[in-house]
Amino acid sequence: MASSPNTCWICGKPADKSSAGGRDVEIVSCPYCGDYEISGTLDACEGRLNETQRWKLCCATRMRHNRGESVSLDGGNYLEYIENTRFPGNPLELVDELLKELNRRNPDIGGVIPINSIRDYPSIPVKSVDQFHKISQYAGDLGYIVSPDNQHMEITLKGWQRLDEITRTGIDSNKAFVAMWFDSSMADAWDNGLKRCIIDCGYEPIRIDQTDYNEGVCDEIIAHLRNARFVIAELTGNNQGVYYEAGFAHGLGKQVIFTCKKSYFDANPVHFDVRHYNFILWENTEDLKTRLRNRIQATIV
Ligand SMILES: [Zn+2]
Repeated sequence: MASSPNTCWICGKPADKSSAGGRDVEIVSCPYCGDYEISGTLDACEGRLNETQRWKLCCATRMRHNRGESVSLDGGNYLEYIENTRFPGNPLELVDELLKELNRRNPDIGGVIPINSIRDYPSIPVKSVDQFHKISQYAGDLGYIVSPDNQHMEITLKGWQRLDEITRTGIDSNKAFVAMWFDSSMADAWDNGLKRCIIDCGYEPIRIDQTDYNEGVCDEIIAHLRNARFVIAELTGNNQGVYYEAGFAHGLGKQVIFTCKKSYFDANPVHFDVRHYNFILWENTEDLKTRLRNRIQATIV
């Protein structure tokens, strides 16, 4: 039995609630946090969230709701929704978030987009209405939007240019492209090192097996490189394709993290063009996973 029948568990404001037939689950429809499900047990526990967790979970659920994704909170997972959501501290990134949200709401050129700052502010990862107003003002100062009144915004040509840049450069992507040698000796490093670590850091690992390397696959590789947030170049085996992909990624201005098994690196020096990069020279899969995670968390923002 929920302790607050008409209150949103996340933000504490009035919300519509109904119970899901037969299950110990409440279905909540909150004007701020969006629609979500919550286990009856968790719903009965008030005061679990501190202030920071409260606004972050409000944004995390609202942004998922806006994208049409379902949210189902229970005692074991509610913090994961926060951990798996990016909360940029940089106002320019938040301006980008606002532009993307406007584009999601109305992708029509010249469309005047209704957006109510009081109710809709958690649609971007900001903590308050005031912060939303500030980000809107910055977006206006940069010439990305015009706002005829407090309830509407319009994307300008400059704003469309910025959206195009966001799409083309993969700034907005959650994908990590892995260029590596596809040898069976690398299976463990991939499964339990690279892939595991990328997923743990909240990104989607992309690798293309080079067994079918032909012109079509080459185009596909370039498309994936363009769309990637960052690239990992695993140089164990000194595979030529990895150098090509790392070079292409650098040309696109992508961040490239170089890794190589230390025993291989010591016995087979890598090409001099890349030697000056700060390699992660790993001893074993666990070492690779830990050090790569630290590097991603420190350098990919
Ligand atoms: Zn709420």
